[in-house]
Amino acid sequence: MKKIILATNNLHKIEEIQSFLSPLGFEIHSARDTIIPKTEENQPTLQRNALKKARETFRATGILTLADDTGLEVFYLALQPGVYSARYAGENATYHDNCKKLRRAMTGVPLWRRKAQFRTVVAIVGQGIEQTVEGIVEGIIIEEPRGDLGFGYDPLFVPNGYSKTYAEMTMTEKNQLSHRAHALEKAVQFLSTI
Ligand code: IMP
Repeated sequence: MKKIILATNNLHKIEEIQSFLSPLGFEIHSARDTIIPKTEENQPTLQRNALKKARETFRATGILTLADDTGLEVFYLALQPGVYSARYAGENATYHDNCKKLRRAMTGVPLWRRKAQFRTVVAIVGQGIEQTVEGIVEGIIIEEPRGDLGFGYDPLFVPNGYSKTYAEMTMTEKNQLSHRAHALEKAVQFLSTI
């Protein structure tokens, strides 16, 4: 059976990604099963961070690697926090801290200026393989958080065409429409060709 390793420790992401990859028949591992050092995500773009994670994990394990990097791009904030989404409120910021900072930055901003998008870049690196694919979902940042499912900025993001936030959707619902889902669908297409 072909092996793939997910270069992440985030259980939410591992679950989401596994649900996409399992039909392909890969034996799926994650960074949680290994003792490889954590990649420093210090690149200026999502694409470069995703590639860096995937390259380092492939180099350390020799196993085909899938890594993703995601950012929330808020138009009113000139596409911030973007690549800094994880540490928007500081180096050791929690999801709660980041949401609080975002809510504060958007205080008083009218609905029509609250557009945002989640962007995920997935990188796949293996022997002779380097591929990146991208998924984007547009929506709005609401004022008051809603829902307690999901993670990160999920309670503040309502995708276009829906009334629920990501945090009010089950994982199955979110997986049908999310930014990561779009990128993973493309990744699955690519993986099915190798
Ligand atoms: P990462 O570097 O790909 O883990 O993502 C950076 C940050 O973006 C995370 O710490 C979360 O705050 C946020 N994020 C990533 N994916 C999602 C998502 O699906 N929903 C909400 N927030 C997310």
